[in-house]
Amino acid sequence: MKLQGSIQINEVGLRDGLQLEDRILSVEQKIKLVDALIDANVKTIEFGSFVHPKLVPQMKNSRELYELISEKHQDVDFIALIPNLKGVILAAEVGVQRVNTVLSASNTHNLQNVRKTKRQSLEEFLRIKEYCEEKEILLDCSIATTFGCPFEGDIHEEVIFSIIESVIQAGVNVITLADTTGMANPKQVYDLSKNVLEKWPNQPFNLHFHNTRGMGLANVLGGIQAGISSFDASLGGLGGCPFAPGATGNICTEDVVHMLEEMQLKTDISLDNLLEASKMLRSILDHELPGQILKSGKSSRLYPVPAI
Ligand code: ZN
Repeated sequence: MKLQGSIQINEVGLRDGLQLEDRILSVEQKIKLVDALIDANVKTIEFGSFVHPKLVPQMKNSRELYELISEKHQDVDFIALIPNLKGVILAAEVGVQRVNTVLSASNTHNLQNVRKTKRQSLEEFLRIKEYCEEKEILLDCSIATTFGCPFEGDIHEEVIFSIIESVIQAGVNVITLADTTGMANPKQVYDLSKNVLEKWPNQPFNLHFHNTRGMGLANVLGGIQAGISSFDASLGGLGGCPFAPGATGNICTEDVVHMLEEMQLKTDISLDNLLEASKMLRSILDHELPGQILKSGKSSRLYPVPAI
């Protein structure tokens, strides 16, 4: 197997991970988690979203959180998820410098998620882009349900290509191909990633997987083999999507980093410190997390031979 280079990991636990948790974390608890992630040398963190607090109560302290963490950690890329123009305006008020907006490849999922048709969402994207340009904010775009929609099934590759083309034309920083409900399989990820990289070799792409059906890490490998070097992951494997039936956790950050390290791929992240951060998350939430390495330990861990 030919694998080389380094892999970028973007932590999305504070946003995608926490949004379905019943326990609302305080700003102080979130800051502790951010500090622990940064101790592990995580450099890109999606810290929250600027959505209506009634829709996602967990995100209502995103503004306060950003003010404190951005002041403290100036060398870290903090990304806010914004569903619309209003969201980016709120984010800009506190000085957020990088935002991520979501379009769904499936019209039905888009209506459920942001209550807009795909066309309306693309029009909104143009307005967001214009605003970001004026305010010098970097704009990323996630394409949800790229690898399948729980309502519509398979999404044709041409549909994905046409959305990618539209956002590139408008101007975009990173495009994330998101497997919102964990339907992707490694061959599909490899094929689509390869085709996309061939078509747009200069556009940065990132992949976002959920481990709903246990294919999360295999999908990462599929993406790496096709030449993708950037992935979202969530501490402890926390996460879900309120509008995706049965969607479970994101791929787990420490499990991904462990796998990559074992395969001699660089991430610059300290796995031991990441495990400490995950432990902290487990104790804050007071429940078990889906991640494996926190439970089983690293595969390099050796045990004393039991007496016969
Ligand atoms: Zn997600």
